[in-house]
Amino acid sequence: MVDFIIIGGGVAGLSAGAHLASHGRVTLIEAEAQLGHHASSRSAAVHIPTYGAGPVKDISIASTEAHLAAGVLTPRPVMLVGTAEEAEGFARDAKDLRMTPISPDAARDMVPLLSADISHAALTRETWDIDTDAVLQAYARAIRADGQIVTGARVEAIARTATGWRVTAGGADHDAPVLVNAAGPWADEIATLAGIAPVGLVALRRSMARIGVPGGHEARDWPMLIGASGDWYAKPDAGALIVSPSEEHPLPPQDAWADDMVLAEGLAAFEAHMNAPVERMIANWAGLGCWGRCRSSIRPPPTPYSPRGFADAARPRLTPVKESKRIEGISTSGGNQNQGGHAGETSWTTVPSRASWTPPPSPFSARRTTTPLSARWC
Ligand SMILES: Cc1cc2nc3c(=O)[nH]c(=O)nc-3n(C[C@H](O)[C@H](O)[C@H](O)COP(=O)(O)OP(=O)(O)OC[C@H]3O[C@@H](n4cnc5c(N)ncnc54)[C@H](O)[C@@H]3O)c2cc1C
Repeated sequence: MVDFIIIGGGVAGLSAGAHLASHGRVTLIEAEAQLGHHASSRSAAVHIPTYGAGPVKDISIASTEAHLAAGVLTPRPVMLVGTAEEAEGFARDAKDLRMTPISPDAARDMVPLLSADISHAALTRETWDIDTDAVLQAYARAIRADGQIVTGARVEAIARTATGWRVTAGGADHDAPVLVNAAGPWADEIATLAGIAPVGLVALRRSMARIGVPGGHEARDWPMLIGASGDWYAKPDAGALIVSPSEEHPLPPQDAWADDMVLAEGLAAFEAHMNAPVERMIANWAGLGCWGRCRSSIRPPPTPYSPRGFADAARPRLTPVKESKRIEGISTSGGNQNQGGHAGETSWTTVPSRASWTPPPSPFSARRTTTPLSARWC
């Protein structure tokens, strides 16, 4: 018997485990042979505290100070660029990301690859590359100090017991009073195993291509670039560029791979904003994020680091539930999108609102109708 069982060895499970390790013994169970096998090792590895839906921003802002102190962040400005036709999306996203407008010429001085058609540019320097491997390993070490991580063990059954939960994985039983569901896109499957109603998570694929830098430029010190059209972003990556079509393609939870046509469309959109062609793809991959009603309605409790607090009356409310002194449960899944949590003796639950949840649009309409940054998951 341990104090906490965590299902999922991505960044959400590992971070929850590392922080819970100071409250008791943790067993983390991961289905794959390696930690971070899915989205947590496939991201663009950029930390943009002002990116995403409201709760995502709150969580990112809250974690920035600790990441800086841990030395896992390296400055990487982010530049938003757009053509005259993209002025509307540009204005919205520049405001969302709290960016400072700069002249197109200043943008081209920083990134000589930018096309002469770029007529709008804005920059923020409150953004960083994040060493995701260092983050995952540091969290894993904190768990292993007094607990254990079991890999290659898919959770097959979850039962309620007199003292909490029994989780069966890889042929072994694990018991704990507190169970944390950090299974990312699989979190609804885990909930169902535990006899808890799924919240309606939708797994969304995002693809990535690694390309040689067009025009043969040295891109190491370039900012990350985000297209105001919403259908591409690019970031320097060890002498190359990674370019994502920014798609949100709904799929059943799985080990995702990139779709050639989507990659081609994303690269074409990127290329249309540059003055040299894309010539060489070095590698590609894809991962799954997820969203559901959590995209807009699950929010963490306030933290001392959140400058904005949670006072936005337009957002659906969480209902605080008074509980005993013991932490009753924490649910983190889908990485940046879905966070539940606790604040001392108060745990937080969503007001049921499944009726208001609507399925995602088709991948193509989602990509072509410029999802605002405030509604994107990464
Ligand atoms: C292409 C791409 C680019 C991205 N770029 C960024 C970025 O630059 N910055 C950023 O902040 N975010 C980015 N993201 C999002 C970020 O990667 C995710 O939000 C985050 O990794 C999700 O972490 P997680 O732990 O919730 O999920 P996952 O990493 O999916 O972890 C869930 C884990 O649960 C395990 N699991 C599932 N079912 C079971 C079971 N039955 N038993 C045991 N284990 C189970 C899975 O094997 C998996 O390892 C990006 C995502 C993608 C795909």
